[in-house]
Parts: sequence; structure tokens; C-alpha cells
Amino acid sequence: MAIRMACFRKGASAHSHTDYSNDENFIDEECFNNCYIYPLCGTCAGASYLVNKSFKKRDKRRCRIQKLVALFIADLQAKRILKNPDCIEKDQLYSTIEAIKKIKSLYYDEYKQYCQ
Ligand code: SF4
Repeated sequence: MAIRMACFRKGASAHSHTDYSNDENFIDEECFNNCYIYPLCGTCAGASYLVNKSFKKRDKRRCRIQKLVALFIADLQAKRILKNPDCIEKDQLYSTIEAIKKIKSLYYDEYKQYCQ
């Protein structure tokens, strides 16, 4: 719906040629292969289309904010776990802690001025 509204506002019609049933038309291979937060990244497909004329290529102008948000969410999740380790299912605790550590190792140095 958001995709169609964004395209409609700009008068774009090429989206009507898109096969929405094919996931491949929405996977940015560069992001998928190289960005750790790809599963979390909430980029807007409609905005990506308006900028790149493709649903496959994400709008990268918001990467920095997406990574900063991931860092804050990881920090929040770490604090929740420290306060109450039972807040996470036992079988997900290890992978959650590893994801928190990975996000911090990837982004903390770049954004530490915002994390005081
Ligand atoms: S943060 Fe940027 S590089 Fe990473 S998945 Fe999102 S759009 Fe792609």
C-alpha cells in the first residue's frame, strides 16, 4: 500500500510492471550480502523506488540512522537482559547476546558520540 501511494504521488507507473509475488524483486543483493542489520533495516520500498527507480535497490541515504537505531535497540536489549535474564527465551539468549555484541562491534566506534 505504501509503495503504491508513494509512486502514485509522483505519478510513477513503472511499478505496475513489477511482479509483487516474486521476492527477488525486493531483495537488495548488496545489502543482503554486506550489511549485518539487513533483516532489521526498515527502509521504505516506496522511497527506494522513487530514488532508484527500483524496488531491488534500497535508498541508502538512511543507512546511518538505521545503524544508529540498531545500536540503540541492541543497547536497550542488553539492559533488559541484565535486569531480567528471563525476558528472553532460553533458546534465544545466546544468539541475542551474540547479535548485541556484533552490532556494538560494528557500529559503536562510529556512533559513540551519540551514546553518552
Ligand atoms: S542500513 Fe543501508 S546497507 Fe544496511 S540494509 Fe539498510 S539500506 Fe542496506
